[in-house]
Amino acid sequence: DGMAWTHRPAGYQPPEIDTTVPHSARVYDYILGGKDNYPPDREAAEQMLAGWPELRLSMRENRTFMHRAVRHLAEQGIDQFLDIGTGIPTSPNLHEVAQSVIPGARVVYVDNDPIVLAHAGARLNSTPEGRIAYLHADMKDPAAVFAAPEVAETLDLGRPVALSIIAVLQFVTDDAQAYGLVKEYLDRLPAGSYLVLSTVTIDSSPKPIGDVVAEYTRRGMPARNRTKAQVEAFFDGLEQIDPGVVLVHRWRPEPGTEGRVKDSEVAMYGGMGFKG
Ligand code: SAH
Repeated sequence: DGMAWTHRPAGYQPPEIDTTVPHSARVYDYILGGKDNYPPDREAAEQMLAGWPELRLSMRENRTFMHRAVRHLAEQGIDQFLDIGTGIPTSPNLHEVAQSVIPGARVVYVDNDPIVLAHAGARLNSTPEGRIAYLHADMKDPAAVFAAPEVAETLDLGRPVALSIIAVLQFVTDDAQAYGLVKEYLDRLPAGSYLVLSTVTIDSSPKPIGDVVAEYTRRGMPARNRTKAQVEAFFDGLEQIDPGVVLVHRWRPEPGTEGRVKDSEVAMYGGMGFKG
């Protein structure tokens, strides 16, 4: 057991990796210290970092928010995860955190970037007790995601699932579409499921983060920021889990780490909700 990668239709051609323009997953990989990026990604990233050096810390804080949130969910007994917009594998990945608490945990990863697909098979390794699958799909088509064999064979949709949409919704710039998508995913999950998400805000440092968002957009990666109220609206109809929507470093920090990071250094709101 452990894996389910094999559902490519006959004649399936992996999509081309276009290395002539920056891509959000590779810009993020570069800033996090990864190696799966190309000159246009690095050039974009360096320009953004020159304008706002805190961007690297902010992205790392987003990553550790994901770790704490997934650990918290697994400690509540959640053993199934649907992760939308996975990114280039960066250890620890979501399933490593979940499976460190529940070895039999199951995870479906979804991304539409060919470079994520290229690395997912080799770098995402499940425990033998658990199971993970990678689905190359556009998150903007939830019907296709839920129809995929990777989902059906990995997750029991009759039992609670944690839906994670971490650092992705800033790339869904249309509000109606962004809220509609989150609702569509949640509508297909049973009571007892959770939503965890993070997305970009400029509330904490308006000018420099605003410049980073504008630079993403200018370089062909349309992005947008949202206010706290706009992020809270993703959780409409859910029970808010403490502490609600906060800058990601403030979400249940490890004891003793409080105050190490300043609000002005973090460009992401995060939160968790429960579908009762
Ligand atoms: N969740 C990870 C990665 C965030 S980077 C983390 O927080 O560390 C954002 C990811 O979303 C990228 O890998 C990008 O390819 C993916 N993404 C953006 N738009 C998408 C779409 N429409 N469908 C699927 N994935 C998408």
